[in-house]
Amino acid sequence: MKIFTCGTCKTPVFFSNLTCTCGAPLFYDPDRDVMLNEAQPCQNRQPIACNWKGDGDAGFCRSCQMTQTIPDTFHGDNISLWRVSEQSKRWVLSNLMRWAWFTAKDNGPWPTFKMLAEQTSRGETPVTMGHANGLITINVTEGDPVVREFRRDELDERLRTMTAHFRHEIAHFLFLRLQPQQGFTDSFRALFGDESVDYGAALDRHYQNGAPADFQSRFVTRYASSHPHEDWAETCAHVMYLTDIVDSASAELRHNRRPRSGYDAYKEAKSEKLLDQAFKFGTGLNHIVRSMGMQDIYPFVISPKVKEKLVFAHRHLMTGARKA
Ligand SMILES: [Zn+2]
Ligand SMILES: [Zn+2]
Ligand SMILES: [Zn+2]
Repeated sequence: MKIFTCGTCKTPVFFSNLTCTCGAPLFYDPDRDVMLNEAQPCQNRQPIACNWKGDGDAGFCRSCQMTQTIPDTFHGDNISLWRVSEQSKRWVLSNLMRWAWFTAKDNGPWPTFKMLAEQTSRGETPVTMGHANGLITINVTEGDPVVREFRRDELDERLRTMTAHFRHEIAHFLFLRLQPQQGFTDSFRALFGDESVDYGAALDRHYQNGAPADFQSRFVTRYASSHPHEDWAETCAHVMYLTDIVDSASAELRHNRRPRSGYDAYKEAKSEKLLDQAFKFGTGLNHIVRSMGMQDIYPFVISPKVKEKLVFAHRHLMTGARKA
């Protein structure tokens, strides 16, 4: 993901920001992949903090227009779960737009999304994530990190994030888009196997027996070994992670200068200099881990008063032992 610039004050702004620190509002323009200070807001700006620009008469942005069903909003938590889910969806869609998917250059069909929560006015209903003929079902309840981590542990997965869910399910849709292209099926089958084999039976077998012991020599994840369709979705999701890691890291490197090699942070006597570097690294690393849909590694905003206390504490930690 790129790091954007506020047109008003020229400071760096992040993809999901609604306003700049200078107070100017921010609107993401998916056509130009830039952040604007003035635009028609998406109708979901207020309810779910969508910072994309609205499209003409529809009033919703391109991403929100792709949402066909929203969760039952009777339940207090569902709106915030929907909000974090849509935020991951916008991230993944914007990444794919860099390859022209879902842009004006793309003449094929686009997917639609059913964003469902387990808590509904009719009581608790299980929601199975998946893709069927262009309709992607997402369980927004997994927008809750506690629920998600519990399931990740239960399913013995290495990674489970909302961003990962979107990447995986959209990859199933992209398979349908690629399938009619000349030569795709033959070369796909040569590498991934025959995707026309019984899907239900393959999944049952996977949940019963687990992945083969040598799965790592052939599959990117355990789940990828369940069926060629899942192998494709997992493989594509990884291509999306890896590309975004490089993109986010290089955007971050362009914005921040590295310390010279051999620099020893524990010997830095200028507390302010050390802290300013740390804040830059912190935001830079946050930007990189967001490409995996993970929590920020330094999720704090430091006020001038707090910075004064940090300077004080740093000075004493650094010199106190030698004075004692
Ligand atoms: Zn600004
Ligand atoms: Zn929107
Ligand atoms: Zn799948």
